[in-house]
Amino acid sequence: MNTGYSRDSYTKLTSIVRGFKRSCPHCGHGKIFNGYLKLLNTCSNCDAPTGEIRADDLPPYVTILLVGHFIVPILLYVEAEYRPELWMQMTLWPSLTLLLTLTVLPFIKGAAVGLMWHLNLKGDEH
Ligand SMILES: [Zn+2]
Repeated sequence: MNTGYSRDSYTKLTSIVRGFKRSCPHCGHGKIFNGYLKLLNTCSNCDAPTGEIRADDLPPYVTILLVGHFIVPILLYVEAEYRPELWMQMTLWPSLTLLLTLTVLPFIKGAAVGLMWHLNLKGDEH
């Protein structure tokens, strides 16, 4: 896979950042997503076959890790300082967690695809 696509002209971080912006990790200009999380078969600008990359569980894992580390300290602080009513907490925290998770996930998936592109991984390695 990806033969003929040299990654020597950019760094791993460049690929990750380009992916995070939901752009092609190779050229940085084309789009690689068709919708929320589905990848296009190829980059719309340079035809890099980014659609072959299967990020699988990495994006959800990283998203849960980040969102959890963001939400839990705030939750504990609010509980300790303000002691809001239970119904308020049972409404606020799950809603905020869901909203943040769904907001962050597509960008993390892009970053994961960018990293995998740079490492020349397809997601089916054994
Ligand atoms: Zn491209």
